[in-house]
Amino acid sequence: MGQLSLKNIVKTFGIIEVVKGVSLDVHEGEFIVFVGPSGCGKSTLLRMIAGLEHTTGGDIVIDGKRVNDLAPVKRGIAMVFQSYALYPHMTVYENIAFPLRVEKASEAVIREKVEAAAAILHLDKQLQQKPGNLSGGQRQRVAIGRAIVRQPEIFLFDEPLSNLDAALRADMRIELTRLHKQLGATMVYVTHDQVEAMTMADRIVVLNGGYIAQVGAPLALYHKPENTFVAGFIGNPR
Ligand code: ADP
Ligand code: MG
Repeated sequence: MGQLSLKNIVKTFGIIEVVKGVSLDVHEGEFIVFVGPSGCGKSTLLRMIAGLEHTTGGDIVIDGKRVNDLAPVKRGIAMVFQSYALYPHMTVYENIAFPLRVEKASEAVIREKVEAAAAILHLDKQLQQKPGNLSGGQRQRVAIGRAIVRQPEIFLFDEPLSNLDAALRADMRIELTRLHKQLGATMVYVTHDQVEAMTMADRIVVLNGGYIAQVGAPLALYHKPENTFVAGFIGNPR
């Protein structure tokens, strides 16, 4: 479970084509990082996978089933955004519980899942606090907690660390890698940060202007960039 295939995905806004035929097979449990400059279509691609944006062309296939016309909540996907989008008036507990309340889960199930997520994310002691009292890193972990409780097969992350300072980003890279190992879920992670891509990815997908410039393991891309764009973006300058 958690196998994702993109087949010739195209997206146009008006007359402008921003995603130009992206094809990729993501394996179960794989950590894929999409990397590329601002405006190259990373968020648009992720939003199409999540179902927050329609595709103009192509197929999105999850575990063998075409999901283009499936509602976001039915795709077995949870997305974590750059802006954590927490509810400021709710406690951490209630923020994490929110998707379960929408699903009308029982109080006992909610408690069990929220406490399990809090333990994984080291938020046990913050459960009764409001987001305003938390550090940036803690807030981001609450947003991840809200994704975890839905037990998705696939996690989508859109630049989740870009609002954190450098030291926190480094900690969170390690946390997310640990979380990936622990949950065994498929993760598709978007960033413009080469360090995040190099340290977290099983495979990196380099996007350039709506095209895939290259796909490969971090070291393969670093040592053998196929063109000057990849070399300039991630490769070993020679
Ligand atoms: P990235 O996340 O890589 O920075 P985006 O996917 O956000 O890039 O955007 C890709 C391109 O699509 C940009 O040129 C952006 O201006 C354009 N775009 C994104 N969303 C919309 C929209 N809703 N309407 C029109 N153009 C959009
Ligand atoms: Mg973006």
